Amino acid sequence: MTTTLIDGIGMLVTNDSTHPDGDASPLGIIENAALITCDADIIWVGRHDNAPDADRYHDMAGATIVPGFVDSHSHLVFAGDRAAEFGARMCGNPYTAGGIATTVAATRAATDDELRANVRRLRAEMAGSGTTTVEIKSGYGLDVSGEARCVSIASDFTEEVTFLGAHVVPQEFATDRAGYIELVCGPMLDACAAQARWIDVFCDRGAFDLDETRQILEAGIRKNLTPRIHAHQLERTGAIELGVELDAASVDHCNHVDDADLLSLANSNTVATVVPGADFCTRVPYADARKMLDAGVVVALATDCNPGSSYTTSMPWCIAVAVRDMRLTPAEALWSATGGGAQALRRSDIGVIAVGKRADFAVIDAPSYVHLAYRPGVALVTQTWKDGQLWAGQ
Ligand SMILES: [Zn+2]
Repeated sequence: MTTTLIDGIGMLVTNDSTHPDGDASPLGIIENAALITCDADIIWVGRHDNAPDADRYHDMAGATIVPGFVDSHSHLVFAGDRAAEFGARMCGNPYTAGGIATTVAATRAATDDELRANVRRLRAEMAGSGTTTVEIKSGYGLDVSGEARCVSIASDFTEEVTFLGAHVVPQEFATDRAGYIELVCGPMLDACAAQARWIDVFCDRGAFDLDETRQILEAGIRKNLTPRIHAHQLERTGAIELGVELDAASVDHCNHVDDADLLSLANSNTVATVVPGADFCTRVPYADARKMLDAGVVVALATDCNPGSSYTTSMPWCIAVAVRDMRLTPAEALWSATGGGAQALRRSDIGVIAVGKRADFAVIDAPSYVHLAYRPGVALVTQTWKDGQLWAGQ
C-alpha cells in the first residue's frame, strides 16, 4: 500500500459538487488543491493547505487537473485506411453506411497481431490526450470467428467491450438479411457474449431497421448484455424510443431528434451520446446537444473513433468542437466528456475525483480547464494518470 500526494494543483475539477472546498458548480472546482491516492484509489481531496503527508510526492506546478476522459464510443479493432473515401467526401460525395464493407475486408485479412498493434497505437494516442477509459466495439468481423476475435482483442485493452455484430449486413448476406440476423442472435452472440458487457446495433438507413434492432438487442439482453444503440445519425428511425424502452445505457449520434425523443430521454435512465467527430468528418449539421441539455437530457461526449467517419482519438478536440459548434459551455462539454461518459457506461467509480473513486485523471498545462476549448488542437495534456499510476506523459 503506497500513498501519493499530488500537490500544487492550480485548479482541480472534481465533478463532485458536494465537496465542501469546491465551488457550487457541477464541476466542483477547488483552487490551490491537492489529492492523495492509495494504490488505484483516491483517499483524500481538498485544499493544499490542509493536505496530510503521504509516502510519495508529486508537484504539479500550478497545472489544472480534470477527471480522466471517458470515451464511451469507439471502434478501435480494425485494419486498413479510408483516407481516400474521406478525401472524396470532402469533395462532395455523401457519407453512407456502405463504406464499412471496406474496413470489414481489411480487418478479415489482418492477423491478430496486426489488429492488436493498431488498437495499441490508438489507445496510446488516447492515453496521451487524457482518456483513461474507453469503450471498444467489435463490428468489422461480421462472421462468427471474426466477431469473436474482435471482441477478444478489445477485451485485452478495456473492460468496456461492446458486441456490434449488427454493424451492417455483410456482402455475403446481401440477399439474406434474415439469415444474417439469425446468425447475429445465435452463434455469433454465443461466441461473443462472455467477453462483452454491451450489445450495440447500427439502427439506421443502410444498416438495420427498428424491428431488426429490437430482435437483436433483446437477444443480447437474454445473454445479460446491456444495450446501446447507434441511433438517428442519418434519419429518425424510432431507435431512441426503443433505446429508452429497453433501458439502453446510451443512444449515440442523435442528429435527428424531435421533441418527443427529447422528452422520452429526459425521463429515462438513457444517456444521449453526441459524437462531434463524426459530424465533422461526414460534414453534416452537428447534433443539437444544446437543445438536449436544455430539455433535461444527460449528454455524453465521445470520439466514435473509427477509420471511416470519425478518425480522431482526441477528447480535448471533441470538447473544443462541442463548445464551438454544439454550443455547450466549456463546463458542460468537460462534464459530458468525463461524468457524462461515465454515466453512459453506467460507472460511478470514474469520471469524478472524490474519495473512494479510481485515481484516473489528466494534467493540463494551463491555468483553467477552459483552455481545452480556448486552445483547440493544442496538446495541453502533459500527463495522464490511471489507477493511481502515471500512464502517459512525464
Ligand atoms: Zn460508432
